[in-house]
Amino acid sequence: MRSTTIIYLSKSRLHVKPRVTLLGLNWKLNLNDDFSCSPILRLAPNMSSILPIIIYLFALFTHSHSQSQSQSQSQSISSPTICIIGSGIAGSSLAHFLRSYSPPNSPSSAARILLFERNDIVGGRMATVTISGETFEAGASILHPLNYHASNFTRLLNLKPRTPPTSESSLSLGIWNGSKFVFKTVTSHSKNPFVQKIVSFANSLYMLLRYGFSLFKMNSFVEVTVNKFLKYYQSFETRPTFETVDEMLKWAGLYNLTTCTLHDELVNVALTPLLVQELVTVITRINYGQSVYISGLAGAVSLAGSGGGLWSIEGGNRQMASGLINRSDVELHLHEEIYSIFNLGEYYELSSTKGRSYMCEVTAIATPLDELNIQFTPPISIPERHLQHTHATFVRGLLNPGYFGLQTVSEIPELVGTIEEPDLPFSSISVLKQHNETDMTYKIFSRKAMPDSLLESIFSVRKETIRINWAAYPHYKAPEVFAPFILDGKQLYYANAFENAASTMETSAVAAENVARLILSRHFGEGSSRSSNLMSSFSDDKLLHSDL
Ligand SMILES: Cc1cc2nc3c(=O)[nH]c(=O)nc-3n(C[C@H](O)[C@H](O)[C@H](O)COP(=O)(O)OP(=O)(O)OC[C@H]3O[C@@H](n4cnc5c(N)ncnc54)[C@H](O)[C@@H]3O)c2cc1C
Repeated sequence: MRSTTIIYLSKSRLHVKPRVTLLGLNWKLNLNDDFSCSPILRLAPNMSSILPIIIYLFALFTHSHSQSQSQSQSQSISSPTICIIGSGIAGSSLAHFLRSYSPPNSPSSAARILLFERNDIVGGRMATVTISGETFEAGASILHPLNYHASNFTRLLNLKPRTPPTSESSLSLGIWNGSKFVFKTVTSHSKNPFVQKIVSFANSLYMLLRYGFSLFKMNSFVEVTVNKFLKYYQSFETRPTFETVDEMLKWAGLYNLTTCTLHDELVNVALTPLLVQELVTVITRINYGQSVYISGLAGAVSLAGSGGGLWSIEGGNRQMASGLINRSDVELHLHEEIYSIFNLGEYYELSSTKGRSYMCEVTAIATPLDELNIQFTPPISIPERHLQHTHATFVRGLLNPGYFGLQTVSEIPELVGTIEEPDLPFSSISVLKQHNETDMTYKIFSRKAMPDSLLESIFSVRKETIRINWAAYPHYKAPEVFAPFILDGKQLYYANAFENAASTMETSAVAAENVARLILSRHFGEGSSRSSNLMSSFSDDKLLHSDL
């Protein structure tokens, strides 16, 4: 377990002096360099157990006396303040759910919602990149046809869904092992729908010949998991709120999938080793930058993200965040990073890098805490984990067929996936747009940064290159251990605790919805006003999806 500890002695950033006079005693403090993993103060052994409590009480005391002089925003006691940290899909949808589930004229409906975003743009990992004047998804790019919250937001915000530019079925795939393509589907550049259908049929046949009926077993494994996930859209009458991720997963029948690796789950359902080593590996490397030894649940979600009917939002998925924030009566604090959260009993005091502080009755963290340095007083304890970094490299230019042992560019599949080979320098290369036969935009995913020297050998033409190092998603393992949704047993919530089960835009929204319901019931003592079954509100679903 990771323990983040701070002893807060001042309103500005952390101030710890080697000697402090407290309660008439002179205390000698030994500072520990590693602030993130262990308590920052160590004392003479007999005092160590009580000092944090005393200092916390002392800090509380000084806080209450200094409040009138502080830069804290004066806030009306009658309208409670809910502070949300992070403006990605979790934070923005949390604000949306709080507003839409608050019963009319209730205390919660009068609450102020403050939303903090350290960047100067909302959306978090839903972001776009502009290369040579054209804009593409830089982070989260695809949605599943059964992502009901995302579908709902799209309709609510009048956004336009779109299918990927190249017809999914005729997108050619090659599996590269570092020296040759071990599997390749047919590449067709014809725009004729009839030709595309034939090519798609031929490619399905190729797949069947190589992987056999294991493909159906894989599909049914994904289907069973997706069906369990659909329970999270049931009406409130049949769906409780969950205080822990474990509880939430167990209720839907998904917990066991987090206790085994995807590899073991697929062996259990008798998938052939070839399918696991090749196609499944390609998919987990593309979607989570990791191998088949991720947890079974993260793996199933990753496989679901490779099926048919995938969609995105015209103009960028991040419009979901901006749209939800716009219509949720939120006070948005852009470019303002929260660096400490201090529990003052009735309030949490949030301090920001702009030198301001805010008093919030409720605080919700809507970002992974794993690589953040937010200081909590008193300390919170969450399982220690790492984020998987994915390097997304965008290149406008042309691939070098020689790198792949081919004669012409047209022989290179539009999606080059890779298997687990230690020296393979990238996870995938895909064509984002074919401007003409000698000019394309590509996206490369890799576990390490792609140096220029490597790009020089992979590309014959490189007009522009953009690199993004994403702290992308959790590094999954099995069995998984989860942080709770309620970090301190009081009013400090953590929506991204659920991300350690699976990381997607939709799972973030599902977790945020649960946290909104927790806040309404635990802080305001209110039930949520809306009680419909989200799936049934999509009875015209087919209509929507046929448009996608
Ligand atoms: C390369 C890549 C590809 C992906 N592909 C897909 C995909 O195709 N489909 C899919 O569904 N998902 C995909 N994902 C996963 C998806 O992006 C995430 O699961 C989802 O967007 C997480 O949203 P979030 O709101 O929980 O977190 P984030 O989007 O990370 O939002 C957190 C926000 O909090 C802000 N913040 C952090 N700390 C502070 C602080 N101290 N003070 C103020 N603000 C702070 C951050 O700046 C950020 O804006 C992908 C992710 C990556 C990186």
